[in-house]
Amino acid sequence: MRILIVEDEENIRQQLGKHLQGQGFAIDLAADGEEGLYYGREYDYDAAVVDLGLPKIDGIDMITRLRKEKRSFPILVLTARGHWQDKVQGLEAGADDYLAKPFQMEELVARLNALIRRTAGYASPVLIQGDLQLDTAKKEVRVSGGAVELTAYEYKVLEYLMLNPDRVVSKSELTDHLYDQDFDRDSNVIEVFVGRLRKKIVPVDLIRTVRGQGYRFVAES
Ligand code: CA
Repeated sequence: MRILIVEDEENIRQQLGKHLQGQGFAIDLAADGEEGLYYGREYDYDAAVVDLGLPKIDGIDMITRLRKEKRSFPILVLTARGHWQDKVQGLEAGADDYLAKPFQMEELVARLNALIRRTAGYASPVLIQGDLQLDTAKKEVRVSGGAVELTAYEYKVLEYLMLNPDRVVSKSELTDHLYDQDFDRDSNVIEVFVGRLRKKIVPVDLIRTVRGQGYRFVAES
């Protein structure tokens, strides 16, 4: 999952970035609204965290423009404590949730995870497909009740595919959502991750290869 963070306070921006990276997210950092707008237009994020008081283009303006341009990823805004009008304005501009400063990192992560899975159409943090269960909060995978040991990247691939069922996901889309822009990408490693994943979640045959296009996670109805 790839997250855009738009925050002008260097300290908070770096702390947020570090913490979210530690939670397995790929992160892009923007220090003002202009940079945020550029990133938001350029990449397809799984979610964004946007401070409202920003230099160059303020947060409300930035969100309004992104929404007008049909950028639909979920946005969580950061507001100053006690400024309830900011929350209303943020939501009305197209944000999906808010958090007042100062906030706890754990709460921010929990809210981001909830936004991402709600956007994908899941109400529960545990994604279930047949015998396969993926707990997005605990980052645990089970097949027929038994725990499956996955590496961080194998987990990320599976989570992304399960959150985007029944459509073809290309290798480049996967690399876009698994790595931030500074990462040296190699889409061949995706094949390796998927190959290992398939072996580990046998007998669940839910990840199909679509020749020349990518992968499709088959949801059981
Ligand atoms: Ca600010």
